[in-house]
Amino acid sequence: MPTILSGVAARDELKKSLVAKVKALREKQGAPLTLAIIQVGDRADSTAYINAKKKFGAEIGVLVRLIHLKENVSQAELLSQIEKLNEDESVVGIIAQLPLPKNLDEQAVLDSIDLAKDADAIASTNVKKWTLQDAGSYKVQDVILYPATARGIGELLDFYKIPLNGKKVCVIGRSPLVGTPIAALCRAKGAKVTVCHSKTVDLMKETLASDVIISAVGKAGLITAEHVHIGQIVIDVGLSRAERHLVGDVDFEKVSAVLGDKGAITPVPGGVGPMTVFALFENLVDCGIMSP
Ligand code: NAP
Repeated sequence: MPTILSGVAARDELKKSLVAKVKALREKQGAPLTLAIIQVGDRADSTAYINAKKKFGAEIGVLVRLIHLKENVSQAELLSQIEKLNEDESVVGIIAQLPLPKNLDEQAVLDSIDLAKDADAIASTNVKKWTLQDAGSYKVQDVILYPATARGIGELLDFYKIPLNGKKVCVIGRSPLVGTPIAALCRAKGAKVTVCHSKTVDLMKETLASDVIISAVGKAGLITAEHVHIGQIVIDVGLSRAERHLVGDVDFEKVSAVLGDKGAITPVPGGVGPMTVFALFENLVDCGIMSP
């Protein structure tokens, strides 16, 4: 059987040093670290993600403040709420829970968040930083923040001592918040990255040619035993609902049987999900460390 890359085990171990950092920042600031989450509307999946963030925040001593706005909130009202949070010195990080309703200009909302408080790292300036960093063309002394799912995957691979340097990585999915930053992070770690998406003609050819497969699509059963070979590392980011439980993109049982002892695979749930929440709070702590 392959190594099971448990995000729960990694998170629980890494949490200890995060708690220490949160405590040190609280002492430096004289107040608890606060993450503000803006939710527009009542999407059940957004509420579930926010609840997971609130729960983890409470576990590590971070205050999570929810600003819950109506579905029909205007762009101007939303921007004015963000402006207040930008000016609020007690707030270290701000995230807008995505997706926002279609009538709102999502990128303008993200770009209105003070860059120093952009815990999701998807304001245009942060996107430019993590996109260009790996090309060696962006020279800054600051820590470069990646969106939480990408950072969480990087931490999970580090935890299990799986280097990406020189590896061929196939990332499936190219969304701005998930697939694209995952690909950027893998490149920054020295991998040769192929990005696949809905227009990819022969997905199986690409996955079979890779050392590492990272699937971030949201289609159950997309990656089957035929897509993999012995010894590969398979990271399943996708989440979709099957009857009453959540499943990933990967057929876990059948794929695991092919990977063998030298391979590794993330479970769903309990793989990338816990690391994503963990990495968001790492980003928050970095915002706190970098703030004057
Ligand atoms: P998204 O915006 O819907 O993007 C999905 C991506 O998959 C797109 O790039 C799309 O290609 C591609 N795609 C669709 N069908 C495909 C196919 N048959 N073959 C290859 N690629 C295909 O979703 P997202 O926000 O990136 O999220 C992706 C998944 O990750 C979702 O299931 C989400 O719930 C999950 N997620 C999990 C975590 C976690 O912590 N575990 C965190 C974030 C997201 P095109 O670009 O060509 O349309």
